[in-house]
Amino acid sequence: MTQTNSSAKKPTQKLVVANWKMHGNLQQNAVLLGNFVKHLSSLKHTQVVVCSPYPYLAQLQSLLQNTHIAWGAQNVAKSEFGAFTGEVSALMLADFGCKFVIIGHSERSTAYCESDENIATKFVHAKKHGLTPILCVGETLIEREAGVMEMVVGKQLDAIINTHGAAVFANTVISYEPIWAIGTGLAATPEQAKSMHLFIRNKIANLNLDAANELKILYGGSVNPQNAVQLFVVESIDGGLIGKCSLYAQEFAEICLAAEQSAA
Ligand code: PEP
Repeated sequence: MTQTNSSAKKPTQKLVVANWKMHGNLQQNAVLLGNFVKHLSSLKHTQVVVCSPYPYLAQLQSLLQNTHIAWGAQNVAKSEFGAFTGEVSALMLADFGCKFVIIGHSERSTAYCESDENIATKFVHAKKHGLTPILCVGETLIEREAGVMEMVVGKQLDAIINTHGAAVFANTVISYEPIWAIGTGLAATPEQAKSMHLFIRNKIANLNLDAANELKILYGGSVNPQNAVQLFVVESIDGGLIGKCSLYAQEFAEICLAAEQSAA
């Protein structure tokens, strides 16, 4: 059952995050980023962020400097430093100007067995070192069909709330990503997304209203230029986390434009 807290306000600025996943190379990225800069620099009500694989972060840093487009990573270690071969810490990301990091994406939590507790630790480390964490939450198709999606997402949020409190969500981002919608071409309906977004914001608002008011909640899962228009006009949806369509300049620009028009 969705709790209501009518005092929780949504932020007005939209946010659209490109999740390139494990795609790209120096040449393709340069072309794509050139197009992003050309088409998205004049947006006034929409913040655009590009999250690439680690080796290309330096390219983002260089090609996006002095633009309005920010950049970020797709994962972070749960420790600050030490003998953790292959890991990259929040301290290291912050060291060279990274501003955002995706945390707990289901493609990682399923393939690399990331627990809710590990994800909670990563979230707090990222925030502590000045990065804006983009926390992914969402249910499987079986869980949705069983009607337990709010319980599942509530438990994912509780892993952070129970150890670090609800205040930690201030100035962070949560992305509602139903696992059944990621990369399937089958997006959640605006009604399904709205209901879950209200659940998330109200859960946090009931514990800490200021944090809820300073939190952006994105929708992710098969967003395309057509469904973006319907999704982004929903008041409780603050923007999107975009996978496949962020690899195509034209489609990504149209999605960002849908966000801009819904915010204006
Ligand atoms: C994602 O992986 O975060 C995602 C939303 O992917 P897609 O847009 O391809 O469904």
